[in-house]
Amino acid sequence: NGRKQYIIYADEFGENVYEKFEITNDFYDALDKEQFKLNYQPQVDLHSGKIVGVEALIRWQHPTKGVISPAKFIPVAEETGLIIPLGSWILRKACLDRKQWLEAGIQDIRVAVNISMKQFQQENFVETVLSILEETGLDPTYLELEITESIAMNKHQDVIKKLTLLREKQIYVSIDDFGTGYSSLSYLKELPINQLKVDQSFVQGIDHGNYQILQSIITLAQAMQLSVVAEGVETEKQAQRLKEFKCSIAQGYLYYKPMPVEDLLPVLKSI
Ligand code: C2E
Ligand code: MG
Ligand code: MG
Ligand code: MG
Repeated sequence: NGRKQYIIYADEFGENVYEKFEITNDFYDALDKEQFKLNYQPQVDLHSGKIVGVEALIRWQHPTKGVISPAKFIPVAEETGLIIPLGSWILRKACLDRKQWLEAGIQDIRVAVNISMKQFQQENFVETVLSILEETGLDPTYLELEITESIAMNKHQDVIKKLTLLREKQIYVSIDDFGTGYSSLSYLKELPINQLKVDQSFVQGIDHGNYQILQSIITLAQAMQLSVVAEGVETEKQAQRLKEFKCSIAQGYLYYKPMPVEDLLPVLKSI
């Protein structure tokens, strides 16, 4: 490796290490080069079929590698600290897009933004969100923040403090990928949240007759007066079961795939 340094190369992980190295290098100026974009995936009310919200999902349009999935670069963004400026960019862009749809006459739907651990744990996280809302002029009731179970269960008092401030401003809060983390149910009960998003693995379980956990999570949400979204709904059979279980909202390829912002407005207008 030059300069009297050496690295041990093991084939099992060699490709990943190299790929990660490349991603990290190119990542530093991808924000300046405007290579990120947000796609939006609508969420529908299972009974009326109406769109009740859209989730912003980031994509990186790499100049030579094509589109890179957030599963690959969000961890890099976390490790390098770049998630902080990137996270603010995502929030600002989602707020600006939501404002445009409002100006086009689209009422009622919320825009949901995924928040990563490092971003949420910034001391000034709440202030950052509020200042982006102020700067973009978006009414906070149109914004939803998705945090994962692991964020919600870490540093409990700090999480409660931050979520309380966000809820005071009428920002909607969801727990993402619910069921895959290690939620303490007594902690969960204390959290000022609005919604659980059941992880897609439980929805896919329906196909194999495994729906006991899914059904229990829906019942739990109802008992706690939380809204519940099923993620990754791909088939009519899954949708049918979810209706039987009285799940209120669904998101998945059966309804809509994540789409570029320019395709979303006509969809929102047609509903
Ligand atoms: P997530 O927040 O749980 O998002 C749902 C993921 O499921 C998205 O993958 C979406 O495209 C995918 N999906 C939606 N419907 C279906 C379906 O019917 N079947 C299947 N198999 N998949 C479906 P995506 O866009 O690749 O994002 C992956 C993860 O990356 C997200 O999971 C989220 O954790 C993270 N992520 C995405 N955008 C952002 C962002 O702006 N900020 C942060 N911090 N994380 C993000
Ligand atoms: Mg999400
Ligand atoms: Mg999820
Ligand atoms: Mg996920």
